[in-house]
Amino acid sequence: MISRTGKYICTFFLALALVALPSCMRAETTTGTQLAAATELRLGIPIDCDLGKDCFVMLYPDRDPGPEAVDFGCGRQTYDTHKGTDFAIPDAQAMARGVPVIASAPGTVLRVRDGMADRRIRNDADKQAVDNIECGNGLVIDHGGGWETQYCHLRNGSVAVTQGTKVETGTVLGMVGNSGLASFPHVHLSVRYQGAVVDPFVGPNAGPGCQVDRHPIWADNLTYIPTGLIRAGFSGEAPTMDALWDGDFSDSSFNKDIPQLLFWIHAYGVLKGDEIKFRLTAPNGQVVAESQQPIANPSRSWMGYVGKRNTLERPIIPGTWRGEYQLVRNGSTIIDVSRTIEIR
Ligand SMILES: [Zn+2]
Repeated sequence: MISRTGKYICTFFLALALVALPSCMRAETTTGTQLAAATELRLGIPIDCDLGKDCFVMLYPDRDPGPEAVDFGCGRQTYDTHKGTDFAIPDAQAMARGVPVIASAPGTVLRVRDGMADRRIRNDADKQAVDNIECGNGLVIDHGGGWETQYCHLRNGSVAVTQGTKVETGTVLGMVGNSGLASFPHVHLSVRYQGAVVDPFVGPNAGPGCQVDRHPIWADNLTYIPTGLIRAGFSGEAPTMDALWDGDFSDSSFNKDIPQLLFWIHAYGVLKGDEIKFRLTAPNGQVVAESQQPIANPSRSWMGYVGKRNTLERPIIPGTWRGEYQLVRNGSTIIDVSRTIEIR
């Protein structure tokens, strides 16, 4: 499970002369006000990657005005009071290689912060350590006409603009990181119009909830994909969620003396009632592990695996092993993954 607080986010940016400027987002998740010319801003995605392949939208703005949480697609890929869209990358290794955060529209940088460590939030002590600096390394861009975008959780030392920098759509602002209140590597994009949070998938004139007319302000049509694969692979030991976000278990081959062979999946947006199917097949075509089970509890970030022990009677033989996984919802296959690994 993702450990993120549902608290009201209120960030402080250190301006020049070391004056702390509070930048508190308003409590309402949307504005019902009629806004003239408000829909003229068009946003590119804030990350330079192939969406759906190298990166994905992990969490959406919360559209529920109360203590529940709902995304614009009436799904659960959000949490209470979440005010932005989280564009995630698969793991810390991708983060270390570097994925640029880019400006969503032309404008002028209002304020920046850098110098905070990249550290996944795992417990309450981690959360308290970033109290009032939840955005981590980030910046705000003024687009004029009352529009602002804010980019959060950038990699320590990567912020490439300063206060007053003029940017165009696509200008590199820094790198995707894991600073501030973030439990996975991503860039959080908040959009505000006249200080009020705007859900870019819906537009500025909508009321609360998910049953509303949508006037998205993205320059390109972004498909709603509330469930998908983060990463899949093999390991010789049981993976943990931390290890998967760290980028461990990316081996492409193993020696035949490993104690066990596991095929694992890391996925997002797994719902109660989803049917999970796993299969592990040996090089000789024999199915050595197979499971099919319904999901009992929903997970915004989910991990599972099947495997086989290495025994004298039934050894892990050299050759190409295959792992297969399907997530089926209401009869439709949502995720269908197959991976192979060489045993030497
Ligand atoms: Zn976020």
